[in-house]
Amino acid sequence: MSVEVNLAIIEEKINEVCAKINRDRKNINMIAVTKYVTVERVEEAIQAGITHFGENRDQGFNDKWEQIGAKVTWHFIGTLQTRKVKNIINKVDYIHSLDRLSLAEEIQKRATKQIKCFIQVNTSGEGSKHGMSPDEVIPFINQIKDFSNVFIVGLMTMAPHTDDVSIIRSCFQKLKELQQQVQALSLAYAPCKDLSMGMSNDYEIAIEEGATYLRIGSSLVGNEQ
Ligand SMILES: *Cc1c(COP(=O)(O)O)cnc(C)c1O
Repeated sequence: MSVEVNLAIIEEKINEVCAKINRDRKNINMIAVTKYVTVERVEEAIQAGITHFGENRDQGFNDKWEQIGAKVTWHFIGTLQTRKVKNIINKVDYIHSLDRLSLAEEIQKRATKQIKCFIQVNTSGEGSKHGMSPDEVIPFINQIKDFSNVFIVGLMTMAPHTDDVSIIRSCFQKLKELQQQVQALSLAYAPCKDLSMGMSNDYEIAIEEGATYLRIGSSLVGNEQ
């Protein structure tokens, strides 16, 4: 299916949810996750009007970056090894996977400007999911107060892959509650106004629970090379 057709289907669903819960569509950004697809598919998505793109590996990101460059907004959404920070930093616009102090230290060291970061939170408690536990978030934010290059725009989570909507919803609600706690601190370096949550199979629930960045791969650009 063309990106244009997929996008129209997704847009219709987003608009339906927004109408139902009275949210403004303008406050929801859609990131096309292109980790499974070719640069040609990225070009097609650009033609379809998509401006935010997400990659989860340094190599995959750089392959796309070399051909597409800074004409779109790039989001790094994958687990980031400390030694790979230098390969992506100052090229990506957002990092969604800040999950430990050593990574913040490396970003601080390598960045030549303030880097917009989401703290990745493990809201499901599943061992296999990356991200810090919810109670580590505020202590972590306090620890990075002097990191002038690390700017906390929001929180990110991945819900478990399950058909149980209540489990998914409770993950997203946990992230929202945590966001409110961070916002109550009123920190200039951590306004935490955004929530990165919702993928192909759960973005409608994420919108209902306050997502401002959706990360959509398979159902938008596909998942085959
Ligand atoms: C792959 C990926 C997505 C997109 O997943 P789909 O189910 O294909 O929409 C979103 N977020 C992260 C962190 C990913 O790795």
